[in-house]
Amino acid sequence: MFLTSNVHCAPLHVSSLSQLNSQSVFSVKYAVKLLKKLADDGNFKLGKVVHALLIVSNHASENHVIQNNCLINLYSRCGQLSIARHIFNRLRQRNIVSWSTLMTGYLHNGFTWEVPKLLKDMVSVDNLFPNEYVLSTVLSSCSNGGLLHEGRQCHALVLKSGLVFHQYVKNALLSLYTMFSDVEGVLEILKSVPGSNNITDNVVLKGFLDHGYTNEALDVFSRMLSEGSVRDKISYVNIFGLCARLKDLKLGKQVHCRMLKSGLQLDVFLSSAVMDMYGKCGEILGARCIFYSYPDHNVVSWTTILAANFQNECFEEALKMFLQMELQDVVPNEYTFAVLLHSCAGLSALGCGKTLHARVEKTGNGTFVVVGNALINMYVRSGHIEAARALFSNMICRDTVTWNLIISGFSHHGLGEDALYMFQDMLAAKEQPNYVTFIGVLLACGHLGRIEEGLYYLQHLMRDFGLEPGLEHYTCVVGLLGKAGKLDEAEKFMRSTPITWDVIAWRTLLNACNVHRNYGLGQKVADHLLRLNPNDVGTYILLSNMHAKVKRWDGVAKMRKLLRERNIKKEPGLSWTEIRNETHMFVSDDTQHPETAQIHEKVRKLLAEIKPLGYVPDTNSVLHDVEQEQQEGYLSYHSEKLAVAYALMKTPSQAPIHIIKNLRICDDCHSALKLISKVTMRMIVVRDVNRFHSFQNGSCSCADYW
Ligand SMILES: [Zn+2]
Ligand SMILES: [Zn+2]
Repeated sequence: MFLTSNVHCAPLHVSSLSQLNSQSVFSVKYAVKLLKKLADDGNFKLGKVVHALLIVSNHASENHVIQNNCLINLYSRCGQLSIARHIFNRLRQRNIVSWSTLMTGYLHNGFTWEVPKLLKDMVSVDNLFPNEYVLSTVLSSCSNGGLLHEGRQCHALVLKSGLVFHQYVKNALLSLYTMFSDVEGVLEILKSVPGSNNITDNVVLKGFLDHGYTNEALDVFSRMLSEGSVRDKISYVNIFGLCARLKDLKLGKQVHCRMLKSGLQLDVFLSSAVMDMYGKCGEILGARCIFYSYPDHNVVSWTTILAANFQNECFEEALKMFLQMELQDVVPNEYTFAVLLHSCAGLSALGCGKTLHARVEKTGNGTFVVVGNALINMYVRSGHIEAARALFSNMICRDTVTWNLIISGFSHHGLGEDALYMFQDMLAAKEQPNYVTFIGVLLACGHLGRIEEGLYYLQHLMRDFGLEPGLEHYTCVVGLLGKAGKLDEAEKFMRSTPITWDVIAWRTLLNACNVHRNYGLGQKVADHLLRLNPNDVGTYILLSNMHAKVKRWDGVAKMRKLLRERNIKKEPGLSWTEIRNETHMFVSDDTQHPETAQIHEKVRKLLAEIKPLGYVPDTNSVLHDVEQEQQEGYLSYHSEKLAVAYALMKTPSQAPIHIIKNLRICDDCHSALKLISKVTMRMIVVRDVNRFHSFQNGSCSCADYW
C-alpha cells in the first residue's frame, strides 16, 4: 500500500524496497543507504517500515551498531526523539557515531541542554573521547542554548584534545564566544589558531556585527578583502550589514559595485541586505531602486523596504507601500506592523494607528513586544498618553525599550511624577536601565525641578549601572538648572563639564535665559550659539523674542536684518489636526482654506470669550515692530489658533483636540489655549517641536515652561 502512495518520493525507495522484500537479494548495505535517504527526507512513515523489515530479518538487534545508528539518525531527523533515545539506550555496543548522532538529534530539536550531559556520559560511561564532530555539536548546543559555563568546559576539552585546529571546532568556538559577546575570547582564538576559511570569516563578522563590535568587524572585513575571500552571498550580506551599521554610504556603494561585477545574482536575501544598507545610510532612492529591480519579494524584503522608508522619515510612503504589499497578498508579520506603527507615530496619524492597532489584535500580533512597543510609541507621539499607559499595564512581556518608551512618554507629556514612579517600577522589576532610560528620567527631574535627585542619577546611579553619562544627559541637567532659574550655575556647569556642547545644549540655556528674562547672559549665549552655527534659525527667533519682551525693537530689527543678509528663511508656522482620519493643515495668516471666514470668525469669538478671564494679547510674540492693533491681528491668526478653532467647529463637544505644530508654540498662543480649554471645557493637546502641552481647565501640563 505504501509503495503506491509513496511512489512520488523517489524511485530509489521503490526499487530498494522491492529488493528488501525479496529475501534473496536483501542486503544490509542497501538498508543503511535507504535509511539515510529517508532520514534526509524526514520520511517517518516509510522509515518505520524499513525498521520493521530490519527487525523481521533480525538485522536490527542490539548488536548491529551501524544499522541502529542509522535508525537513531532517522528518528531524530523525523523529530521522534523518544524512539531515538529508546534505541540508543538498548544498544549493547555504542560507538562514537551513536553518541554524536543522538547529540545532533537533541541539538536540532532544540533540546540543547541535553547535549553537554550526553558528552559527560559518553566520557564517563563509555570511556570514549570526543572527536571533532562531537565537540562542534556540543559547542553549537552551548551557543544556541546560552550555556556559557558548559561551553567553557567544552573549550577546555577542545584544548586538551588538540582538536582546536580543526575548522569545524574553531568555527563552533568562535560562534560560542561571539554569542556571549566575548570579543577577547574571539580574538584569542583567531590569534592562537592559524588559518581561516570563508565560513570562519562569516561567523566572526556576523558575531561582531550582532554584538555591536563594529571596529573589530571592520578589521575582519579588511582582511577578507586583502585575502580576496569576499565571494559568497553570506559574506556580502554580512558586509552590507557592516556598512549599514557604520552608516558608510561610500563603502556600501563600493561593496555594491563589487557585488555587481562579481556577477552574483540578487535573491530575496541579498536584495534585503542591500536595501537595508541604503536605507540606513540615508539613501532611500537607492533602496527603492533595488526593491523595484528585483521582483520576487517576501515579507522580509517588504518589511525591509518599509523600514528603509521609515528610517528616512518617508512615513507616508511607508504606509502607501504597505497597500501595495497587501495587494500582492504578502502576509505582514510583527516587524511589518512595528514599522507601520512607528510610521504612524512619525506622522502622529492616530486614525491610521488605531486601524493598525485593531488589525494587530485581530491577527494575534499584539502580543509581540516589538508591536506592543510600537503601539505605545504611536499613542505617546499622537498625544494619547493615557492609551499608552493602558497598553503598558496590559503588556505581558516588556523589555528595556518598553520601559524607556513609557518613561520618556510621561516626561514629554509633563507627567514627571509618573515617569519617576515608572522608573522605580523598572528597577523593582529588575529591568536593566540603559543610556536612553536616564534621558527620560533626567527630563522628568527637569519638569519637577528636582535638582538634587537629577544630579544623584547623573553622578551616581548611572555609574552604578556601568553607564557613562553623555551629551544628552548633561543637556538635561542644563535644562534642569535652567528651569529652576539657576542660570549662572547652569552656565558654570557647562563651562566646567569636559564635553563638546552642541547647539541644542546652548539653546536650552538660551531658552532658560529667555523664560527667566536674564538678557545679559542670554545675549552672551546667543553670540556663542551664532558663532557655532550662524544659520540656526531657532537662535535668531529666541533672541528676537528676548529683545521684543523688553521692547528693544532695534534688537529685533537687527535680528531680522541678519536673517535677511544671511539669507536664512524662517520656517513658516504650520499646525495640523486630524479629524475623522483626515488631516487638515493650517499656515499662519492663512486665507487658502475654503472655510477661512468661518474659522477667523471662530477665533475672534474665542478671543472675545477669554478676554474677560484675563487674556491680554502678548504682543511680544509678534516679532514685528508694528502698531499695537496690527500686532494683535498678527497674533490672532497663528496657525495653532486656526487649527484649534477649526477642530472646535468640527468635533463633538466632549472630544479632546489634538494639534501638531512644527515650531515651538509661542507665548501668546500658549496663554490663549489655556483659557480656551477652560471656556470650552475641552482638553487640547498640542505637540510642538519640543514637547507636549496638554491644556486642561485653564492650565498646561508643561507648567508654563517649555
Ligand atoms: Zn502663536
Ligand atoms: Zn504648555
